[in-house]
Amino acid sequence: MLLFIYGLPGSGKGTQSELIKKEFNFIHLSTGDLIRDIINNKRKGWEELNGYVANGQLVPDDIINELFFMSLNEKGIDKNYIIDGYPRNLNQLNLIIAKLKNLTGIEVMHLYIRCDEEKIIKRITSRRICENCGAIFNIELDKDIQNCKFCGAKLYQRVDDQYSVIKKRIDEYKIKTLPVINRLKEENLLIEIDGDREVNNIFMDIILILKGKVK
Ligand code: AMP
Repeated sequence: MLLFIYGLPGSGKGTQSELIKKEFNFIHLSTGDLIRDIINNKRKGWEELNGYVANGQLVPDDIINELFFMSLNEKGIDKNYIIDGYPRNLNQLNLIIAKLKNLTGIEVMHLYIRCDEEKIIKRITSRRICENCGAIFNIELDKDIQNCKFCGAKLYQRVDDQYSVIKKRIDEYKIKTLPVINRLKEENLLIEIDGDREVNNIFMDIILILKGKVK
């Protein structure tokens, strides 16, 4: 099965992907991870890729398509995958649809975690991380907490959790990726889940959807 998962940045699709991976023994294929791996290990072309990522821009289609299909073919397309971060625009969707036309017997699902943009922005910009133990807090829920409840160290805000950055990523998603969501919806290929709930409640819905469908 190829399970494509979609959602605005901060919708919790990474968390749900990890849960699905564990519960159903899927391979988690994240194009963001593929890109970060090249950048962090300074592999060929890393500087160019870093330029796009650091500016919140999408990497050109030819580069990402090659990386994605190489990774899929390496492990074999007949396995169960949760695919996170691809396709990100209509060109990429068209390519996937064209490639899948030539393959039979592979179940494909498109799952969209629908969230309210304002709620995401509030949640992400309120997130603080302990600089010592990495524990995560929310300054709204924890009433302006300044220090870690567990080890007492100072809390900090991640650069990509700042308002300007999250807003830019959401805007980029709305321009480039929402057309993908709309196309899948028009073609009745999209399964939508209410993402403005507790992580476990969202996951329960996903379990119900996947049960009986995963080989
Ligand atoms: P992510 O972790 O999925 O948000 O991806 C991090 C960054 O990698 C994105 O901001 C893009 O620069 C790049 N990236 C990941 N997936 C794609 C894709 N399908 N198309 C183009 N760029 C991508």
